[in-house]
Amino acid sequence: MSYAQNVLEQLKKKNSNEPEFIQAATEVLESLQPVLDKHPEFEEAAILERITEPERQVMFRVPWVDDNGKVQVNRGFRVQYNSAIGPYKGGLRLHPSVNLGIIKFLGFEQIFKNSLTGLPIGGGKGGSDFDPKGKSDREVMAFCQSFMTELFRHIGADTDVPAGDIGTGAREIGFMYGQYKRIRNCYEGVLTGKGLTWGGSLARTEATGYGLVYFASEMLKDLGTDFSGKTVVVSGSGNVAIYATEKVQQLGGKVVALSDSNGWVYDEEGIDLAAVKEIKEVKRGRIKEYLEYRPNAKYTEGKGIWSVKCDVALPCATQNELLIDDAKALVANGCKVVAEGANMPTTLEATKYLQDSGVYFAPGKASNAGGVATSALEMSQNSQRLSWTFEEVDSKLHDIMVNIYKNASAAADEYGTEIGGNKNLVLGANVAGFLKVANAMMAQGIV
Ligand code: NDP
Repeated sequence: MSYAQNVLEQLKKKNSNEPEFIQAATEVLESLQPVLDKHPEFEEAAILERITEPERQVMFRVPWVDDNGKVQVNRGFRVQYNSAIGPYKGGLRLHPSVNLGIIKFLGFEQIFKNSLTGLPIGGGKGGSDFDPKGKSDREVMAFCQSFMTELFRHIGADTDVPAGDIGTGAREIGFMYGQYKRIRNCYEGVLTGKGLTWGGSLARTEATGYGLVYFASEMLKDLGTDFSGKTVVVSGSGNVAIYATEKVQQLGGKVVALSDSNGWVYDEEGIDLAAVKEIKEVKRGRIKEYLEYRPNAKYTEGKGIWSVKCDVALPCATQNELLIDDAKALVANGCKVVAEGANMPTTLEATKYLQDSGVYFAPGKASNAGGVATSALEMSQNSQRLSWTFEEVDSKLHDIMVNIYKNASAAADEYGTEIGGNKNLVLGANVAGFLKVANAMMAQGIV
């Protein structure tokens, strides 16, 4: 049995109740064997055993009082996975599905993603099973203050810098930042995604979606084409989905479908993004309400968005939302490129099917790294006590995404073979992300 397979078997035994973590670890470890063959010193130093074990994980009680005066209790998490190349960095997810296995999978992915950005940030992730949906602003504030009352002791501008993720937007970051500052009496860049008047960076809101489309543009360039005139399907209608749609439209593509956890809309003429922003960013409503703005669009309850014919598919909602039957439908409809905006939205089986069928596929740890990269730019601005212009940040983001593409595709050429006639970017991203962290760990001794 190879070194990678052996470590994976041990992980499966030890973490059998964490399927998402096992899925993420399988994808990474299975693609590292060519590197491990070339560098036997990694096995001698037990790099895989160490990199798959978080440096630290905390779980804590989050009590708060709802609007009826009833005491509620949620569970909080922060997994500090790897600090070999910089302070832990990664978002806070607020969603009822959150558990330790999900936070571990996200934290593990974050190590390689952060490495790929070329910036000095380690990997971490956190969150809670709290559901902000349907809660009043006061309830959300009560939760966020209680959550930070424990989290504050584990984080810091040079230790661990959390950010937003599903369910954690500008409002939640604001409440958490206020409480951190109050407890610590310290105005530091300890959270990213802050408001523009209090330390936030221009273009952070847009960064993940824009970055995804910059990355997908490089893939299309390799195929000799671009977004102009392309039909695109984007799942989700949150932060990543909205700004991916905006950038596709700016580049001349047509986004025809968006979704949320209840269902999806199809608009043959192209999505009216102003309507979606009003529904989602202002009213915090459901995607179904899109029909009130565009009566000719169609709404379908439940899953099925991947049955829509498209040239490019951008899954931007959540993990395991693109399954094998969805992959088959995309291939049958002639889809040429799938780039992940969400973290691990495509199952291992669906990923393999897409790649084998000649679809050019980008894993989220490469294609959605624009968000964390811009968060690191927010940290730099906080340290300098300066604010850069939108154009400055956007242009750095663009360069970072082009570089991630170059590095992942160079590693795919060096360590992998073509798959379905395309570069294997899954392997390339894993290898490029891993090497930098592994070399830093080697240099820092057995820690
Ligand atoms: P948001 O909370 O803004 O939006 C999430 C969207 O996905 C919503 O439309 C939501 O619908 C939908 N969704 C969430 N969970 C499910 C589910 N279980 N089933 C179906 N739909 C679901 O989150 P973001 O846009 O920030 O994040 C989306 C993805 O991108 C996540 O995987 C996140 O980890 C990843 N990501 C985000 C980054 C960022 O900068 N924000 C950076 C890198 C990755 P509903 O409103 O109905 O719940």
